[in-house]
Amino acid sequence: MEPSLESSSPFLLQTLWDKIRAQEDFLRSPLFPVLFSMTLYLSCCLPYLCLDTLSSRVALVHRYKIQSQSRVTWAMAWSCLATSLHTHAVFIFPLTPGSLRVAWDVLACLLLFDLQYFVWHVLHHKVPWLYRTIHKVHHRYTATFALTLTFSGQYNRLSVHLRPDPNLLGCHPLTKMFFFTLNIWLSVEDHSGYDLPWAPHRLVPFGLYGGSPHHDLHHLKFMVNYAPYFTHWDRLLARCCIQTNQTRLM
Ligand SMILES: [Zn+2]
Ligand SMILES: [Zn+2]
Repeated sequence: MEPSLESSSPFLLQTLWDKIRAQEDFLRSPLFPVLFSMTLYLSCCLPYLCLDTLSSRVALVHRYKIQSQSRVTWAMAWSCLATSLHTHAVFIFPLTPGSLRVAWDVLACLLLFDLQYFVWHVLHHKVPWLYRTIHKVHHRYTATFALTLTFSGQYNRLSVHLRPDPNLLGCHPLTKMFFFTLNIWLSVEDHSGYDLPWAPHRLVPFGLYGGSPHHDLHHLKFMVNYAPYFTHWDRLLARCCIQTNQTRLM
């Protein structure tokens, strides 16, 4: 049974505890320990930073400064803050218990979306009525640019979204937020029309991720590269097509 503070503590403490418990989803998220420690650390620093700005102007403050000749400049404060934020974002957050689970769940959501979109896309190219009625608008431009992602007509957008939701994977709400953000960015990157040195497909080894060159080729050649992100389903489909053609020739 959940312990209550009502009988032993003032009403305010119980109210505070109830408010904290109402944020349970956030408290359990892997982001919480990092944000909490960082906020606490910066809150403790803030009064001393205020003293640093005052010490050169207010004699009373200056009197208590240990090395009275030293001065803290904005450049010094900013370089410490930037290093601290970088360390937390790059080293501490990825090692937080739970963040590995978030990364894994986001990857699972992306793979699920990729499969769903692949099946939807193949169907909308292979069935002439579906292509003519729904998907044809999206293929008006053979060279992609960022806005061509949503240049698809209302039926195309609606039918893309009528698919099993990643919620089926039972992800944490924070994971869903990461997934939706990443999903939108990757979709735009797919249609950007640029193959930049830092493009995601260059970061994933063995050509497992297709990205913008992969999808641009779909707009150019039309009957290739149906998967939006990864390349394994298109490789499998191409192999199946080659095998079917060879069987027909025999
Ligand atoms: Zn298409
Ligand atoms: Zn497209």
